[in-house]
Amino acid sequence: MIKTGLHEDVHYLRTESRLLGIPLAFYVYAVDGLLVDTGPASQREVIIPFLERSAIREVALTHAHEDHCGLAAWIQENLGVPVYLHEALHAEVAADARLPPYRRLAWGSRKAFRPRPLPPAFQTPSHRFEILPAPGHTPDHVVLWEREKGWLFTGDFFLGVSQVVAFQDEESGRSIDSLKRMIGLGADTLFTAHSGVLSEGRRHLTRRLEFLEELRGKVQTLRADGLSDRAIARRLLPRRKLITLISLGEWSTRHLVRGL
Ligand SMILES: [Zn+2]
Repeated sequence: MIKTGLHEDVHYLRTESRLLGIPLAFYVYAVDGLLVDTGPASQREVIIPFLERSAIREVALTHAHEDHCGLAAWIQENLGVPVYLHEALHAEVAADARLPPYRRLAWGSRKAFRPRPLPPAFQTPSHRFEILPAPGHTPDHVVLWEREKGWLFTGDFFLGVSQVVAFQDEESGRSIDSLKRMIGLGADTLFTAHSGVLSEGRRHLTRRLEFLEELRGKVQTLRADGLSDRAIARRLLPRRKLITLISLGEWSTRHLVRGL
């Protein structure tokens, strides 16, 4: 289901890709001419009109996964507005992404683009968005924090309270540290990439932290007993996830266990 909406002055667009019939939602946010993540190239037909309506002047990217920056090259070439991304990722995005088939199918390609380094904050006519490091999902992941409003734009930093699969590069131990810092901000509203706008932001982050800390305790006990990450994952998170099969193991419970 495609839909647009408004939360105060934040415009959002919900798009939906499909992977073997499974719907994959993505939310693009535009506020005061600032776009937070571009959305995937596979959804260009609905995202581009949204960008044009939103009079985008600049783009902030939370990280370099193709669902978050798949239209960055198009935006640079056609809208001529600056795109900002963590400097550590500039070399990676200077070439077209080489993606496994399931990701290309779901999100489309990610063409090369030339970002600028992220500033400490984005000042728009009505808001100030601080850029805060939030490593975990990826090492250089950032979130945008609007202190006055209590808004946190989370990218893939928050993927649900009881998400049990992690991406292959994910460092869930670092996610725990990042969660603690983010909870300290006292966010009221989360603007998430895949679950939309969530009120009671702090409560969601706290529940996620509790989930991960409890799991980490169990993982450490079993590890001390000599079990491998694979065996621990089977013991603690026995339900096989379809995404693990589809992604040929890029997303798995074992990656979550390893990261903890
Ligand atoms: Zn991601």
